[in-house]
Amino acid sequence: MNEQARWQAVLERDAQQDGRFYYGVVTTGVYCRPSCASRRPLRRNVRFFDTPAAAQADGMRPCKRCKPLQQRADSRTVERIEALCRHLEQHLDDAPNLDALAVRVHLSPFHLQRQFKAVLGLSPKQYVDALRLRALRQGLRDGAPVTRAIQDAGYGSSSRVYEKLATHLGMTPKQYRSGGRDVAISYASGDTSLGQVMIGATDRGLCFVQFADNELELIDRLRSEYPGAELAPMDAQHAPQFDDWMQALRRHLETGAPASVLPLDLRGTAFQMKVWNYLCRIPSGEVRAYAEVAEAIGHPRAVRAVASACAANRVALLVPCHRVIRGDGGLGGYKWGIERKRALLDQERAQRSGRSAKP
Ligand SMILES: [Zn+2]
Repeated sequence: MNEQARWQAVLERDAQQDGRFYYGVVTTGVYCRPSCASRRPLRRNVRFFDTPAAAQADGMRPCKRCKPLQQRADSRTVERIEALCRHLEQHLDDAPNLDALAVRVHLSPFHLQRQFKAVLGLSPKQYVDALRLRALRQGLRDGAPVTRAIQDAGYGSSSRVYEKLATHLGMTPKQYRSGGRDVAISYASGDTSLGQVMIGATDRGLCFVQFADNELELIDRLRSEYPGAELAPMDAQHAPQFDDWMQALRRHLETGAPASVLPLDLRGTAFQMKVWNYLCRIPSGEVRAYAEVAEAIGHPRAVRAVASACAANRVALLVPCHRVIRGDGGLGGYKWGIERKRALLDQERAQRSGRSAKP
C-alpha cells in the first residue's frame, strides 16, 4: 500500500486498515490508527509506520483516543474465547487440537489462533501448557506422588514428557517436589534502577527470578523456595548467560522492550492472564486505575479481582502492574513496595518527557 492509498484511508477513517499501518503527526508527536476519530491532520505533517514499535522508535506517543497499542477484540469474540478457556481448563488431558477448537467457536483455525492471542496474549497451546505447569507445581508442592501429579496435570507419562518438564521447572519434577534437594542452583544478582534482582538457574534452566531491596533478602527467598538445594554464586562459566539476561532485563526497564528471553511464570488464572495481558499494553509512563482496567477487559465490576491479579503477579516488572493506580490517584498497593512503584513511574515519566522534548 503506497503512501497515497494510506493517506486516503486516513481521510476516510477506514477501520479496515486498522492494524495494517499507523500514522503519526509530527506537530503533536502522537500516532493513531487509521480509523481514529480525532481531527484529520495536514498531509505534510503526517508520517506512516508499519507497526506501533516503529512509531515509538521515532519518538511518537500512542494516541489516548484510539489507543493504537491495544489490540481490539469485540465482546462477542472475548466471550467465545472465554468459553473456550473454560473448556480447555476442564479438558487438560486432551491435547488441544486447533481444528477441533475452531469448529467449537465457529472460527477458522487461523482466526481462532489470532483472536485467542489478541485476548490472552498466548496461543491455545501455550495456554494449556501454562495451566498444566501450574497444576503440576501445585500438585508437587502439595506432596502428591510425582506420577500422580504429572498425570493429574494432564500430561502423558512418556519419558520425553518428564524431560520437557525438567526444562520448564529448571529441575526434575521429583527434585521440585523435594524442595530442590541436591539440586545445584547458581544465583547471581544485579543492580537495576529498581534495586536488586536475583536470577537462580540450574543446568537445565531458570528456576527463580525475583526483586528485593538487598541481596540478603533475595537469598532468604531463594532458600525458602528451595530448602533442599545447594546454593552457590554463579561461576564464570555461566556469567555470559547471566549477562544476557541482565541486559534483556535492563533494556526492558529502560525502554519497555519485551523481555521474552526471561520466562514469564504464568501461574495466573485466565482472568489474571487477561489482566496481565492488558497491563502489558499500557504504554510506558502512563497509568490506569484498577476500575479502568476492569472496564477495558470487559469485567467492569471486577475491580477487586483486578487488584488481586496485580498482587498475584510474581514477576511484576515483566508485567507492568506498577502502571495501575487507585481511582483516586493514590498509588495503591504494589508487591515490591510503594516506593519502588513511585520510582518506577517517575522514571518512566521522565523518560517520556525526555523523548517528547526531542525535536
Ligand atoms: Zn488516535
